[in-house]
Amino acid sequence: MFETVIGLEVHVQLNTKTKLFCSCPTSFAEHQNSNTCPTCLALPGALPVVNKEAAIKAMRLGYAINGNVNHTSHFDRKSYFYPDSPSAYQITQLTKAIVQKGEVHIDLPDGSKKTIGMTQAHLEADAGKNMHEGEYSKVDLNRAGTPLLEIVSDPDMRSSDEAVAYLKKLHSTVRYLDISDANMQEGSFRCDVNVSIRPKGQEAFGTRVEIKNINSFKFVAAAIAYEVQRQTEAYEDGVYEQEVYQETRLWDVEAGETRSMRGKEEAADYRYFPDPDLRPLVVTQEMIDEAKMMPELPDAKVKRYTEELGLKMYDALVITADKEMAYYFEEMLEQGAEAKTAVTWLTSELLGRLNKVGLNIENSPIDAKTLGTLVAKISDDTISGKGGKEILDHMMENESRDVDGLIDELGLAQVSDDGAILAIIDEILAANPDKVEQYKSGKDKLFGFFVGQTMKASKGTANPGKVNELLKQRLS
Ligand code: ADP
Ligand code: MG
Ligand code: ZN
Repeated sequence: MFETVIGLEVHVQLNTKTKLFCSCPTSFAEHQNSNTCPTCLALPGALPVVNKEAAIKAMRLGYAINGNVNHTSHFDRKSYFYPDSPSAYQITQLTKAIVQKGEVHIDLPDGSKKTIGMTQAHLEADAGKNMHEGEYSKVDLNRAGTPLLEIVSDPDMRSSDEAVAYLKKLHSTVRYLDISDANMQEGSFRCDVNVSIRPKGQEAFGTRVEIKNINSFKFVAAAIAYEVQRQTEAYEDGVYEQEVYQETRLWDVEAGETRSMRGKEEAADYRYFPDPDLRPLVVTQEMIDEAKMMPELPDAKVKRYTEELGLKMYDALVITADKEMAYYFEEMLEQGAEAKTAVTWLTSELLGRLNKVGLNIENSPIDAKTLGTLVAKISDDTISGKGGKEILDHMMENESRDVDGLIDELGLAQVSDDGAILAIIDEILAANPDKVEQYKSGKDKLFGFFVGQTMKASKGTANPGKVNELLKQRLS
């Protein structure tokens, strides 16, 4: 009946050493108001100077999403009357942002793909923090002037699945580019969700509401679901005009609903005008060269993993979703691990064990070199898969990372030598003449019995493939 339309605005805190327009450090775990200077305190006469590192990081995102990086962009003032902004305006980029247009490719849970258009990415300064303690309100301006990159999408998403896939892709891209730590709990990657509905087939968009500052993928999906239902019900009850109007809402985590926060200001209310203190931002060739230096991004990795390493699309997406995971995987390959085997050992064996004890790939007690070495030993039949699991379990509990040493210590070296295995087989066959007779007269099921006995006699170290092969020979 109805179609959902979603556009997202993501605020990414850039991981620069200093603030956007002054040389104060961006680390705000410091004592309150200590990372401040006349510029970020907006004292009269202090002049802002654009941070080159922030501009380069914004440009890098621009190149990564195939956007237009403007060689000249402008800064504007947006009126903002709150105590956490001593200047009473925010410096941002309205009409000519550093990045315009672009695209983000997303992969949906059902395996389909879609391209989301980007409107722009612009630089702006963050505000400080208001704190309310008892009867006092206090202001900490350590964060005031921290560089943000606001990344605005076109209203191209049609479901919360698409919105979440887009956010995850952007989050991972920003982390690969190393332009932000993108920590959602700490607010360095936060998102405003714009949602509207329209009857299927109608071309004009419906009225959108904006849900501010959501900091988890789960809440984004929940807020969209709630808002779609609210708007749909209003439409069906004939009160759409009265109940759905352009406004800013909040996601109330406790109540599981969106609540009205304030009527949406029209652009006129912000009284934007060009910042007279800042000259246009003109990028140099040197800045362009530096911005274009970037690592292999998830889309390219997926292509390489599927086409050159033969991974399944699903596995390639899982591995590349997270740069730590991709780098871990690639380091395993450097140890000689075979790609598909490496995927299994990384995603099910290692992650399964880490999960159980509340760890993840970033703080894994077993590093990629070790797991890669272990997997290489499985691929070349030095040990069996079962032996590999035993070593992993041992490593989760103990200090040693010496794979060869542990193979010896735990007696896991696999016997692949024909002579040694045949000796065991012959013993087993000699001890069970009746079963051999039954097998030869057609009781095929007994084959498993012989395999089991041989494996047991070898204490599990015989190469199972070899055991099968040699048993077949002997019994034929
Ligand atoms: P503002 O700067 O006032 O928030 P913009 O026009 O820049 O407004 O749009 C902000 C976001 O809203 C963009 O991500 C855009 O894609 C999205 N958007 C615009 N119209 C709609 C709509 N009808 N439904 C859903 N999202 C929309
Ligand atoms: Mg907005
Ligand atoms: Zn400062």
